[in-house]
Amino acid sequence: MKLILLGPPGAGKGTQAKILEDKFGCVQLSTGDMLRAAAAAGTDVGKQAETIMARGDLVPDEIVVGIISDRVDEPDCAKGFILDGFPRNVAQAEALDNMLGEKDLSLDAVVELAVDDAILVSRIEKRAAETEGGPRADDNVDALRKRLEVYHAQTAPLIGYYGEKGVLKTVDGMADIDEVSGEIAAALS
Ligand code: AMP
Repeated sequence: MKLILLGPPGAGKGTQAKILEDKFGCVQLSTGDMLRAAAAAGTDVGKQAETIMARGDLVPDEIVVGIISDRVDEPDCAKGFILDGFPRNVAQAEALDNMLGEKDLSLDAVVELAVDDAILVSRIEKRAAETEGGPRADDNVDALRKRLEVYHAQTAPLIGYYGEKGVLKTVDGMADIDEVSGEIAAALS
């Protein structure tokens, strides 16, 4: 199973990706997690990404496209993967199309988790309060406002992009976790 999980910050992409990993035996590929790991390890890419991420902007396309391209080649991705947080704009989606074409792979579906902005703010506040080791640098009001702005301006157009390709499935991301995962399973069957 090769999927994209699309949705605003706090929509539950990470939570649902983990459930899908267990269900389908495929791996979650979260560009946010990979960039945070690179920042924590102090790599050049990590250092470059850290300040951009803290203010809620997108890191350059070539960085994330390169990371995903390398990651998809690893053996554990052979069973399939769930892209969580990638692509984030149309240029990344086009780069992904080219990359998958070159690797002779194709997507099974793009699942959109639809959630109202008002709910996202309270979800992110909850996540910030519950994160072990302290909140993420970008889980604060200013960065969240920016991340939502970036989502609507740059990422939401992917709903139309994948809708036109006929691969988009939209699920109500405001229901509870089990209901959402049930809806995703139904949409994929
Ligand atoms: P996330 O964990 O998906 O919420 O991502 C956290 C932050 O990492 C984002 O606000 C961006 O700064 C950066 N990031 C993650 N994925 C991407 C991507 N595909 N393109 C650009 N920046 C990204």
